[in-house]
Amino acid sequence: MCEWFPAAESTVVVDRSAARHARRFLDDHWCVEHASLLRPHAELLVSELVTEAVTHGTAPVVLRIECEGDDGVTIAVSDRDPNGPHFRTVGPDDAHTTNLVEVLSDEWGVRTRPGGKTVWSRLVV
Ligand SMILES: [Zn+2]
Repeated sequence: MCEWFPAAESTVVVDRSAARHARRFLDDHWCVEHASLLRPHAELLVSELVTEAVTHGTAPVVLRIECEGDDGVTIAVSDRDPNGPHFRTVGPDDAHTTNLVEVLSDEWGVRTRPGGKTVWSRLVV
């Protein structure tokens, strides 16, 4: 729990400005008490998660940011497509690929439900 910044949710506008709007939302709701050091990774993660959902998912796309105090910050992006996600892969060659979310997150995962999914990532100080 965080006593300064409550969890915040926003429906992301599905167009080419989506990642920019998502980063602005991060500006307004980022917990500077607990999570200042995590901010650079968080910006990259939000861009990657939102871009994936906007490109491959089904609207509405909802971004959620939740500070959990000393347990870190969880960033989650939900959309109405139960399939995926389809992240861009990075790596030295085809046999050793990963994706940016895997690289940047301390923990991450996908929760699927009827009619949609949530991709979440946790960053820990
Ligand atoms: Zn906090």
